[in-house]
Amino acid sequence: MPEGHTLHRLAAQINTVFVGRPWRVSSPQGRFTAGAQRLDGQTPEHAEAWGKHLFVHLGPEIWQVHLGLYGAFSFRGDADFAAETTIGAPRAAAVTFEPHYDAEGWLIPEPPQGAVRARISARHGWADLRGPATCAVLQLAEYQKVIGRLGPDPLRQPRTDTTPRKDFLHNLSRRRISIAAALMDQAVIAGVGNIYRAESLFLEQLDPHTPSNQLDPERAAALWDRLSEQLRDGVAEGRIRTVRTGGSRRHWVYKHQGTGCPRCGTLIAAAELQGRRLYWCPGCQRD
Ligand SMILES: [Zn+2]
Repeated sequence: MPEGHTLHRLAAQINTVFVGRPWRVSSPQGRFTAGAQRLDGQTPEHAEAWGKHLFVHLGPEIWQVHLGLYGAFSFRGDADFAAETTIGAPRAAAVTFEPHYDAEGWLIPEPPQGAVRARISARHGWADLRGPATCAVLQLAEYQKVIGRLGPDPLRQPRTDTTPRKDFLHNLSRRRISIAAALMDQAVIAGVGNIYRAESLFLEQLDPHTPSNQLDPERAAALWDRLSEQLRDGVAEGRIRTVRTGGSRRHWVYKHQGTGCPRCGTLIAAAELQGRRLYWCPGCQRD
């Protein structure tokens, strides 16, 4: 599943290539027809990410997208459309095409391929959304309800703002579930997924099974700082690479079960926890 860094990259790209100019919106697949009609012809004002949600503000209406496990945006355009080609779940790279323009000077998009939930077009390019878990148009009150349920997102505030970290500590102190389960609860912290969970707990040498409310506040604060740093690296680089020492290894424990821990040599473990696989080292993640 795309983690928070992916959504922040997506919001930044939408701000760059779509915001401030009228766009055309359609639902080639037909499952978002009414929503697309409400967005079509409007001017997107601002795109933002909060955890794993994307919100695009258009006056009183807000377009909400959650990519879920399979969702992705693919971007295509002419030489004036500076966009990464795919953001979200991995997709085949686009092939090059010859640009043609309509009578109003807009690039003519290629026929949609596969189940395109939403197509958004600007003058110089377009983006296709496929496979999202959520694609909806919200009114302000509905949007406020969604964000009201989300915990702090380390990527939304400058590092110097300590309020989100305090909120995170407070959220942990109110839960008896394991720290591993708490990190996946978007009401505790927004944007963390399976890879960042495993990697941050490993680097902080925390036992994933420790009850959240028994975690030492200093260790919890260090965990927040670690996640903030990892997510920021993810935004900058467009992928998750938590091993920062060079070489081909990208992750410390994620999907390395059964191999020796790079820190202590114990075999890395994996177990199902609430439907998602947890990876950790039982040798050196002990408290
Ligand atoms: Zn170890």
